[in-house]
Amino acid sequence: MDTTKHLHVGRPNLGNRERFLERVNEILDRRWLTNHGPVVQEFESKVADFLGVKHAIAMCNATAAIEIACRALGLKGEVIVPSYTFVATPHALQWQEITPVFCDMDPVTHNIDPTKIERLITPRTTGIIGVHVWGRGCKTEAIEEISTRRNLKVMYDASHGFGCSKGGRMIGTFGECEVFSFHATKFINCLEGGVVTLNNDDLAYRMRMMTNFGFTGYDQVEYLGINGKMNEISAAMGLTNLEAVNDIIAVNRQNYEAYRSGLTDVPGISVIKYDPAERNNYQYVVIEVDPERCRRSRDDIVKTLHAENIIARKYFWPGCHNMEPYRSLQPNAGLLLSETERIAARVIVLPTGQAVAKEAVSRICEIIRKAAMAEHRTANNK
Ligand SMILES: *Cc1c(COP(=O)(O)O)cnc(C)c1O
Repeated sequence: MDTTKHLHVGRPNLGNRERFLERVNEILDRRWLTNHGPVVQEFESKVADFLGVKHAIAMCNATAAIEIACRALGLKGEVIVPSYTFVATPHALQWQEITPVFCDMDPVTHNIDPTKIERLITPRTTGIIGVHVWGRGCKTEAIEEISTRRNLKVMYDASHGFGCSKGGRMIGTFGECEVFSFHATKFINCLEGGVVTLNNDDLAYRMRMMTNFGFTGYDQVEYLGINGKMNEISAAMGLTNLEAVNDIIAVNRQNYEAYRSGLTDVPGISVIKYDPAERNNYQYVVIEVDPERCRRSRDDIVKTLHAENIIARKYFWPGCHNMEPYRSLQPNAGLLLSETERIAARVIVLPTGQAVAKEAVSRICEIIRKAAMAEHRTANNK
């Protein structure tokens, strides 16, 4: 498949190419390619400054970063997570034989519903991982009130949330720590990358050591560790893209507004909203298809878009609890996840970012409008 002819969800945003290549040349000249080199150090300090946190620890990806953060926090037994997230969130737990206990979502915010957390707490529960889905911040106050009262650790999967705020405070500054993904498809990318942000010195030190096999000095290993290091080229990509952060937000926002106006008055289709009082990265254009008001099903609309080479996606369909190994390990989890199942069956994520021009947005809106208003025909549905 020649993907250049397609409009995909998650095509990368890129900063200044010459600046990136210049940095790559400097890295090659220096022959310092990894092991906390100067570019990684600069990236970490720029991220920390941007967010206003004490520590930003760069890692090879967000999944490894979540695993390392969980270990450094001492999570074990059971940890409460939303089912409505990318499967990496529960996988990072299960990989360490910690049981992810799936919590239902709030259908308005798509985030974990704090009012449904407490019923899931057992004597084995050690923590909660909130996910700021689409970059819209979790109800951190309610989550942290429960965690304080029940003596649980809280961290956040902030993979979607770089550049976003909650209650005026930057995402990245909440909980014991937060983890960002800088994967190629994310708002800002390092090719592959993740960053843990936190203010606690001891915890930061432990995470740093764990990221580098537990080394605390030459020939000295003090902890069980793995290799979670970010390399210099990834950091060069991250730094370069970070310099373009405002341009990327502007493009995303323009596309988002164009989708909003292009899809107004299409019965049964609604574009999710971003609170204008917060900082937003507008990286996700998410629509919900209401099966009671739309003439065509969500899956029909996705098929129509795919037939036009527009690779829209059903996130996070069918919900982590319906994926393996969770479907087999926790076959009844869905009984407590009715909102997750309802919303996961409605969502479509549409292409945006620098690779999607305004004209493409208009075209996509017209295709959706026509598809959604057309009378359902069985022949089309086979
Ligand atoms: C992308 C993503 C991850 C995984 O990030 P990687 O950097 O690819 O490991 C984890 N959680 C969420 C919510 C994500 O969207």
